[in-house]
Amino acid sequence: MKRKLPPLGAHVSIAGGVHTAPERGKRIGADVVQIFSKHGTRWEGKALGEEDVRAFREESARTGVKTVAIHCAYLINLGSSKETVRTRSLYALEDEASRAAMLGVPYLVLHPGSCGEDPAEEGIRRIAAGLRAFGRFPAGVTLLLENTAGQGNSIGRSIRQLRELLDAAGAPADVAVCLDSAHLFESGYELGPKGGWDALIGELDSFGIAPLVRMWHLNDSKSAGGSNVDRHEHIGLGKISPMGFHRILTHEGFSGLPMVLETPKDGEDEFEMDIRNLAELRRLAAKPPAED
Ligand SMILES: [Zn+2]
Ligand SMILES: [Zn+2]
Repeated sequence: MKRKLPPLGAHVSIAGGVHTAPERGKRIGADVVQIFSKHGTRWEGKALGEEDVRAFREESARTGVKTVAIHCAYLINLGSSKETVRTRSLYALEDEASRAAMLGVPYLVLHPGSCGEDPAEEGIRRIAAGLRAFGRFPAGVTLLLENTAGQGNSIGRSIRQLRELLDAAGAPADVAVCLDSAHLFESGYELGPKGGWDALIGELDSFGIAPLVRMWHLNDSKSAGGSNVDRHEHIGLGKISPMGFHRILTHEGFSGLPMVLETPKDGEDEFEMDIRNLAELRRLAAKPPAED
């Protein structure tokens, strides 16, 4: 029996314009890519023109590489204790959502936010209030809240916390979840050992998050399990057991979900390591690693 692979790819650069992303995906043999819609560490980006959108759609069709997600700028923090930051974040989120709609990109990935010195409940309350204030996303765009490594009081460090946040926001139909393997590991979930994997799947089921998982970020971790330190590493070279990736890639409930790398691009050129990591994922999807 030949198992169908999930659509695999990577986060790719948009240097030169958003329309360059599909060709970058093609260069690494990706089925799907994720992009920033503008410089990832700035509030404002140049508005997308009709020409950008046309070129992007043409390149997507020509290459057959689908841009499945826009990763929101890291500055957006709906959980901030500062009202000015929360307000700016809402405007920035609106801008990201309209870019996704213009480009026909279905998912918008967002780190829920950080509550600074305040207790997590306060952060959850603020983020939920932000999502309620935001209202509906444009047709065809779903916001995916990404689980976090738990670094710096970030919200979304556990499946339970994602549930609490979704509930506080009124469980909107256009908000779902993106899971990041490195963040799961760094926040204390084990992916390789059977006991750890079963516990994760159990939590996803019991908190009703399983049906909301729309996408995966596949990253190995440089930092230790449960360290709450977010450091991505090449697949197979970090601390996550290769068996963990085999489990994610072959889990029935995740089949068909886009899975993208966000691993370092420190090879000969920007493509080399993505090509290597995708080959590694395909190998791990085909059969379980020899030892674990
Ligand atoms: Zn992220
Ligand atoms: Zn991620």
